[in-house]
Formats: sequence, structure tokens, C-alpha cells
Amino acid sequence: MLSRKHIILNAMGISRWREKDRAIKTTNEKSIVASLSTPAALATSISPSLSMSNKVKHNISLSAQNLSDTSLDWPSLKQRVMTCTRCSLCNSRTQSVFEAGVRQARCLVVGEAPGADEDAYGEPFVGQAGKLLDNMLASIGLSRHTNVYICNVLKCRPPGNRNPTPPEVQECSAYLMRQIELVAPDILLLMGRFAAQSLLHTEASLSSLRGRVHEIKIGHRNIQAVVSYHPAYLLRNMPEKIKSWADLLLAKHLLTS
Ligand code: URA
Repeated sequence: MLSRKHIILNAMGISRWREKDRAIKTTNEKSIVASLSTPAALATSISPSLSMSNKVKHNISLSAQNLSDTSLDWPSLKQRVMTCTRCSLCNSRTQSVFEAGVRQARCLVVGEAPGADEDAYGEPFVGQAGKLLDNMLASIGLSRHTNVYICNVLKCRPPGNRNPTPPEVQECSAYLMRQIELVAPDILLLMGRFAAQSLLHTEASLSSLRGRVHEIKIGHRNIQAVVSYHPAYLLRNMPEKIKSWADLLLAKHLLTS
């Protein structure tokens, strides 16, 4: 019997994320999952290029350098973001959207930019995509209430939810870098093209970036990064969820190994 929560999630087109194969509906998918109990095996089967040994070290070193004071602490950084006028998005935003989750987290999720709900509420991923993100994270034992930090590439909503422009990404990047430096996570989960491309400094497609472990130097630390589909994309393309699940398992494997 379905619980009330299930019925509501189903009505929203959101199915629960679970690591157990009973969450997978079709016989075909069941047999894939049954035969693949490790992240690497699952990942390799779904995408031949997805493998733990396929680690890509990016020869880039990112830092919060273009913040004039790179030693900004949390209150000062948040204050800068909330009052930022570096680009024209400050004219159309309701408010800047700084963060959600736990600042001591080992996993830091990077999304794209606030949407209408986030702009109104002041917190990342609170709309429909956020509910899916929460379910996805829960499937690997992560929650914004206990052990994940969440932020976006852009801190202000692009009008009409248009794509971020390169200058907007550039102007906002020091804020993101300082957030990452302060959290000092063990892994980054880069959700969607803009998060992946801006942190990995590439124009490569998302599908070519997922399925492997990236390593980025931010500040003085090398951080492992996993690229996956943006939850808003998954809401429109449900079949891709199985690949995204492989990405989540890869992230979980990194956190537990
Ligand atoms: N999409 C994002 O990338 N970030 C949000 O905060 C909400 C939707």
C-alpha cells in the first residue's frame, strides 16, 4: 500500500529514490540492478566509460582570488553575496540565494542558479527540482539537514530562468570558490552543465563529463568531483534517472572509501 508521501510524490511525477532494486519498476531494469551490486559494476554496465580508475585530474587551480579579501569568513562572505551588485542580476532579483545545508558537510552539491521559488524563498533547491534532489540525496544517505551543503553557480535568479551568461558566471565564481574553500568538502557533486563546465573549466558536454571521477584544486586542496544530470533535466527526462543513479552511487563510493 502506498503511503501518503508516496501518493503526493507520484502525483508530482517524482518517484522515490532508493538503492534497493524494489524501487526499480521494470523487469529489465531489475535485472540490471540485481546483477550489479557495486557502484563501479553498475556504472560500467550503464556507461562503459564510467569507472573508478578513469580518474581525470584537471590541471586547473581555482581560488577565490578575485574577492579582494580571500580570507572572508562565513558572515562576511554571506554579507557580500546578499548585497552584491557585480552584475545586472541584482536589479531583477528578489534576494540573493546563498546556501542550504550543513557547512561542515563532506559532500557539497553545486547547482546552476536560483529559480522563481528559490528567489522568493532565499534558499537553493526548494522547488520541484529541489524535491527531486532531496530524494536523490536521500537514496545515498545524504540530507541537507544533516550532511550535505548545497549552493549554486549563480547566487541570483536569471530573469525568466534563462541560462547564466559567461560574464555572470565569471562575476559569481569567487563566491562559489570561497564557499567551497570554507566547507572544505571531500567531494563535489556537480549537477548540470553549468556547474560542471564552470568548475572543470571546459565546454565539454555533460554526458562526456559524467561517468568518471574528476579532481580539481581549489585553494590548497584537491577535491574529487562527480558530474551528474541536473534534477530539473531529470524531471523532463525520466529515463536518464538510471544513469544519474550510477553517478550517485559513484559519489557514495567516494564518500565511503
Ligand atoms: N535549480 C538550480 O540549479 N538551483 C536551484 O537552487 C534551483 C533550481
